[in-house]
Amino acid sequence: METALTYLDGNAAAGPLGDILGFDITTTVGRCAGCRSAMLMAQCRVYSVGPGLVLRCASCDCVLLRLVIAQDRAWLDMTGLTSLQIDRTKPG
Ligand SMILES: [Zn+2]
Repeated sequence: METALTYLDGNAAAGPLGDILGFDITTTVGRCAGCRSAMLMAQCRVYSVGPGLVLRCASCDCVLLRLVIAQDRAWLDMTGLTSLQIDRTKPG
């Protein structure tokens, strides 16, 4: 029997990723390496698994980003994104 994981919208990643990156990634536009769709990162699907987060494309379900946070280190894998467009006119 397979159990579907539940997910949150991309806004759930704002806090943990903001702590690591220093800006709100949910206001940026990411391009998926799987289907090439460009989307506001707030529209991604966020799965909270163990000590980390997985962000998946809302169009094709590819993994866009993985974040694992330990006590004194974090690992960030963004290989599922070909680009991240950051609006520099918006504050933090
Ligand atoms: Zn995609």
